[in-house]
Amino acid sequence: MTDHLVRGARLLGGDPADLLLRGGRIAAVGADASRAAGRDAVVVDADGLVALPGLVDLHTHLREPGREDTETVATGTRAAALGGFTAVHAMANTSPVADTAGVVEQVWNLGREAGWVDVHPVGAVSVGLEGKVLAELGAMAQSAARVRVFSDDGRCVADPVLMRRALEYVKGLDGVIAQHAQEPRLTEGAQMHEGAVSAELGLAGWPAVAEESIIARDVLLAEHVGSRLHVLHLSTAGSVDIVRWAKARGIAVTAEVTPHHLLLTDELARSYDPLFKVNPPLRTAEDVEAVRAGLADGTIDTVGTDHAPHAAEDKDCEWAAGAFGMTGLETALSVVQEVMVDSGRLTWADVARVMSEAPARIGRVTGHGRPLAVGEPANLTLVDPAARRVVDPAAQATRSRNTPYAGRELPGRVVATFLRGRPTVVDGAPVAREEAGA
Ligand SMILES: [Zn+2]
Repeated sequence: MTDHLVRGARLLGGDPADLLLRGGRIAAVGADASRAAGRDAVVVDADGLVALPGLVDLHTHLREPGREDTETVATGTRAAALGGFTAVHAMANTSPVADTAGVVEQVWNLGREAGWVDVHPVGAVSVGLEGKVLAELGAMAQSAARVRVFSDDGRCVADPVLMRRALEYVKGLDGVIAQHAQEPRLTEGAQMHEGAVSAELGLAGWPAVAEESIIARDVLLAEHVGSRLHVLHLSTAGSVDIVRWAKARGIAVTAEVTPHHLLLTDELARSYDPLFKVNPPLRTAEDVEAVRAGLADGTIDTVGTDHAPHAAEDKDCEWAAGAFGMTGLETALSVVQEVMVDSGRLTWADVARVMSEAPARIGRVTGHGRPLAVGEPANLTLVDPAARRVVDPAAQATRSRNTPYAGRELPGRVVATFLRGRPTVVDGAPVAREEAGA
């Protein structure tokens, strides 16, 4: 494999330094890198670019098997590489559901064949996501896919007995239950956040308590059982308070926020454009401020994209008929830069923590989320923080067009991404494995 000499990258936003990528690892850092580089090393000019460890997403919907018209493992992971990711977790709500060793191994294999990022399948908690019978968690953990994250995402594990059993079961697997916190009875027919805007628009409301009551229950269950809980796409101020309380109490809970819940509010529902329809719904400006503060103070551990591709016919329709979900792999880092970095609330080192180190740790992903240091796997991304771009859905690599940021100008551009020393993105364009000479 070709050596790469990355020249003058600002490591985690700090001082510029050179990096030599050789044999899939970071072979040298700083002045040693140029000295150690052979004449045939490919030089990557990273002047002005920020180097981050490759991003890790705990929350991606790749839609394969079942809805290859909206995304495949190959198209979704290419989009991920373009967004700066080197590893993603593929949610289990496919068709068939990823609730057996066979399906998770299929997804894992598709990821290996595509070669854009490492794909870590999430295993369903319950058979068919039906919330009744525990799926074969042990078989999925012991499969080639080595599943450690289990979730019925898209649906809530609403039955407290099933949730308790799941938490007990994953303890012995070093696993974690990632909960989609949505009390189903409190959200029947719900279309958007319950509040002033929903009342004005006459749309059925989705109260904050539907999320908060499940999180409160689950942190107590996690404490009782002594197991690990991960709260997916936390979206309300009350949820931040509950997680903060639980952490202070020593409960093994981690939490995620999505880029869209960091930036957008329920005011967007006034457009009646289902592009802004998502689960959990966009909340109020006060909630947005609370999740930003929670991410800044460490209550929220990680940013997960909840990349959810949908067919045009499921979004180009009336609000009530629209599907829940937004794409996000190619815009996540830009949104985090705009909301958290350019505002001074997070440093680039913090971004490395919330978008790489923490998700890798929570998902038990080895080789990712590591320091940019000698001997570490060469999984990294180079970002131009000074760049600005207008989001064009048609220009994105994802097979679906349901980005909520169409026409919006966002900061930052992923210039290059390396997966174990092999470039997957160069000059902002994807590089297939064959072209990379690997
Ligand atoms: Zn979800």
